Amino acid sequence: MADCTSIRKFSDAADYRARFVVQAEIDKYLPRGRHFVDDARINSIIAGIDGKSADPVRVREIIAKSESTCETLQPEDTAVLMQVTDPALFEEMRAAADRIKRKVYDNRIVMFAPLYMSNLCVNGCRYCGFREGNSAQKRRVLTMDELKEEIDVVAGRIGHKRLIAVYGEHPTTSTEYIAETIETCYARQVPAPRSGCKVGIRRVNVNAAPLPIADLKVLRSVGIGTFQVFQETYNRKLYEQMHPAWSVKGNYDWRTTCFHRCMEAGVDDVGLGVLYGLCDWRYELLATVMHARDLERWFNIGPHTLSFPRLEPASGTRVPEESPWLIDDDTFARILVIARLSVPYTGMIVTARESPESRNRVLNHGMTQLDCSSNIAIKGYSDFASEAHQEKERQQFMLGDTRSIDEMVRYLATRGIITSFCTAGYRCGRTGGCIMDALKTGREGKFCKINAVLTFREWLDDFASDETRKIGEALIEKELAGIKEWLPKFYTTVMKQYEATCRGERDLFF
Ligand code: SF4
Repeated sequence: MADCTSIRKFSDAADYRARFVVQAEIDKYLPRGRHFVDDARINSIIAGIDGKSADPVRVREIIAKSESTCETLQPEDTAVLMQVTDPALFEEMRAAADRIKRKVYDNRIVMFAPLYMSNLCVNGCRYCGFREGNSAQKRRVLTMDELKEEIDVVAGRIGHKRLIAVYGEHPTTSTEYIAETIETCYARQVPAPRSGCKVGIRRVNVNAAPLPIADLKVLRSVGIGTFQVFQETYNRKLYEQMHPAWSVKGNYDWRTTCFHRCMEAGVDDVGLGVLYGLCDWRYELLATVMHARDLERWFNIGPHTLSFPRLEPASGTRVPEESPWLIDDDTFARILVIARLSVPYTGMIVTARESPESRNRVLNHGMTQLDCSSNIAIKGYSDFASEAHQEKERQQFMLGDTRSIDEMVRYLATRGIITSFCTAGYRCGRTGGCIMDALKTGREGKFCKINAVLTFREWLDDFASDETRKIGEALIEKELAGIKEWLPKFYTTVMKQYEATCRGERDLFF
């Protein structure tokens, strides 16, 4: 059980709203009140590129810099990439983004599942179906028994190993609750349908509200993976329009300094994200680069992941339909490529909010993680006969890609992409600063390739349909041949683990 004696308790939503933010933990990371998201600089950069086309020589220099150093670009360099409209030059950028992704993460896509724990919230975000006062939502917080039922489906029937657990901001889903749910997820083991081997969740990433340092330390003590907090929009004025001042989330500085507190608390895998469609995408991407650079400046660690959610229809709000900043699929694809070149080492997540066509299209645009067989209704996995079933009143927004994991794994394999269920990194201490250098030099990719093969083998034996298994096995043969050529001295050791996995041993990794 997590030791929660050091964290503050709140009697109700009003008490929480009044006392939750710790001003000293903001001020520390905004010295002299200067914010690392430099609004004036961003506006001046955007004014400087508006309507102007890119100099191809400069664009190629920036591509080369990104590829050779794997370091985060200056915002001004990112802006040059934003000017590219020529399809041939953009294709050069896309190809470079794909090469960087392969250098850092190899030809794998990491698979995860979202699991929503609650939809109670003390905030009033105008675009969100979970906001306080939206009577169209059916409110619910999972009990630990209900959570076990969800895990039985997510891990036991679908075969996920990696979760992103999602929580509304509310005293009933406090840090104590989050810690208990993480422990419950890790403890649950169930037999796999094909092999009977015991399976379960091995990494719990969390998407929640910003927390104080003491609370983050509690989550670290129970083995949190990545802590994800989406900024929604970095544009302060727009942020204030979307998030009422009476709400906790209305405090822009509390939210933007959250990852600085994470690093201080030792939670050094952090996941940034913007809700694309609320504001000019160029503003958001430039601010994201500034955010990454500020974390690097303070801690020498940048974001573990970037997420790219787009504004989607939600219950009881017209904002997602009426925003003037909605982006089309072409722009979405551009954003991904520019993000990959701008923060070359980071993981990039594209979720099932996207349509199947959009996700298929951007697979070679630098992305590294996706979810499928996803259900984002509260208790949706165990209540519904199929994961694809959706109910607007029980979820934050509607999903676009409801393909099953079996279908997706098979599709990825036909494109030469191995699905990785690996969760070894954080369990081997390869997080935060320890992993930054390994990512930039491509060393982490070698571990990843081997662990991807081992976990893919597990999933094929435990869950796959015959058709998927056949295609998957052909891919594994190719991957093993690649490992033999690439790491000849290590190959025998790899094969020992691989053969043990084929015999039914589980959770072997490097
Ligand atoms: S976006 Fe998050 S914080 Fe805002 S209302 Fe929805 S659940 Fe609450």
